[in-house]
Amino acid sequence: MSELAFFGHIIDGVEVESESGARFDVWNPWTREVWAQAAEGTAADAERAIASSRKAFDEGPWPRMGRVERAAAIHRLADLMEERADEIARLDTTNMGKPFAQAKHDVARSVWNFRFFADHQRDHVGEVFPMDSGHHSYSEFGPAGVVAAISPWNFPLMMASWKIAPAIAWGNTCIIKPSEDTPASVTYLGRLAIEAGFPPGVLNVINGYGAPAGSTLTGDDRVDRVTFTGSSQTGKMVMASAATHLAPVSLELGGKGANIVFADADLDNAVYWAVEAIFRNAGQICLAGSRLFVQSSIYDEFMTRFVAAAEKLVIGDPFDPATQFSSLASKRHFDKVASYVESAQALGGRVLTGGVAEDGSWVVRPTIIDGLALDAAPYCEEIFGPVCVVNRFEDEAQAVHLANDTRYGLNAMLFTENLSRAHRVASKLRAGTVWVNCFFIRDLRTPFGGVGDSGVGREGGNFSREFFTEPKAVVMQIDRKG
Ligand code: NAD
Repeated sequence: MSELAFFGHIIDGVEVESESGARFDVWNPWTREVWAQAAEGTAADAERAIASSRKAFDEGPWPRMGRVERAAAIHRLADLMEERADEIARLDTTNMGKPFAQAKHDVARSVWNFRFFADHQRDHVGEVFPMDSGHHSYSEFGPAGVVAAISPWNFPLMMASWKIAPAIAWGNTCIIKPSEDTPASVTYLGRLAIEAGFPPGVLNVINGYGAPAGSTLTGDDRVDRVTFTGSSQTGKMVMASAATHLAPVSLELGGKGANIVFADADLDNAVYWAVEAIFRNAGQICLAGSRLFVQSSIYDEFMTRFVAAAEKLVIGDPFDPATQFSSLASKRHFDKVASYVESAQALGGRVLTGGVAEDGSWVVRPTIIDGLALDAAPYCEEIFGPVCVVNRFEDEAQAVHLANDTRYGLNAMLFTENLSRAHRVASKLRAGTVWVNCFFIRDLRTPFGGVGDSGVGREGGNFSREFFTEPKAVVMQIDRKG
């Protein structure tokens, strides 16, 4: 066991074992071997991290630092991430099986999250309201306190950085709990924060399972904000736990994204993005285009091209530069996705391509299914894998109706060359993000979040500022009346 890598907790500027000494195994889903161990956090470990971040907030320099100095510290961390990009990407690829080129892309986006929020905080513009009464008032955005951040396994570093970056940029201290499936890159980030000279407690990392490690964080009244990305089911538990001490929550949850292709679309572009939207990261993307709606008049032609493009994806070892698609992130997740594919077939769905690899690997090949009833579980529920369910529509109204017929509302895509249709349909879709003729492109100033079961609240730009600060109104007399 001694050759296994180890990922401890980062508490108060030091990497430590759990107080109990307990560890859990960390798997490589491509080789199906244990390659590392991580500290298994107990309630006592989480409480130590909370105490450390509380002290760092109440007494430490971070919230009291000037905004320029704090931004510079965060840029130092981003510099280190850039220097070690290969090493970090290797951790995510080993830990969850995503192709190395995609992991490198995730590191670059994570670096950008830190740089963006560092600058956003440094350069933000306040508001002043002149009042007719002889006063003026202005708003001030002070840090909220201790932030508990809980992240999933599909983009281990990127999802965590999306939460940590705005939290610490606005002067909060933060405790991150990565998914138990993917502790590696976030722990590494915690090590880099020490190296970048962050004061102890500004960024603590607690490894371990949802309960007790995560649930201790969300339920503790020394925590002032809870930001969570994960499944809708867990999101409800997190919200209930945070409600016991009235901590505001931001929940980024599951999705079942609609991808609508109109007959007037540029089909090359639409096929390219339809493949990206459901097969990138082996479909393990909350924003995946997992429900595809194609206009009847082009259905056959589009499907022939889409199926051919899916079959061209190179499946293999995620470290092979030729690989575009690899295994699912864990055995548990493989079993879940495989059971949806089986139930789709049992429910009368036609598998146009793909299916479960029968070679003992944890691969589900790029899978496209049509012919499912609108209430069939694989059609309605989030599968979170490389499984696209397809349906046809006759006109714009039917496309919008089908797309909106879901409890989720994270995102949607639409493909058309008709400008008026693009705006009209985008505005009718019940979703937090709508992409027109593209997918996965983000501007960090815009709101990000979901409707219905896809989440509560928005993050990004000023939306993150509002969540991670306590906005305050200051009213000031200018003219003494009477
Ligand atoms: P999950 O809900 O199982 O776990 C997410 C995190 O919550 C993990 O760190 C887990 O340990 C922790 N957790 C579990 N129980 C907890 C509890 N009781 N208290 C506190 N923390 C707890 O989700 P997952 O399987 O890791 O991730 C996949 C899900 O995440 C999918 O539904 C996907 O759509 C969603 N997701 C959403 C977004 C978004 O931005 N909306 C982005 C990525 C993933």
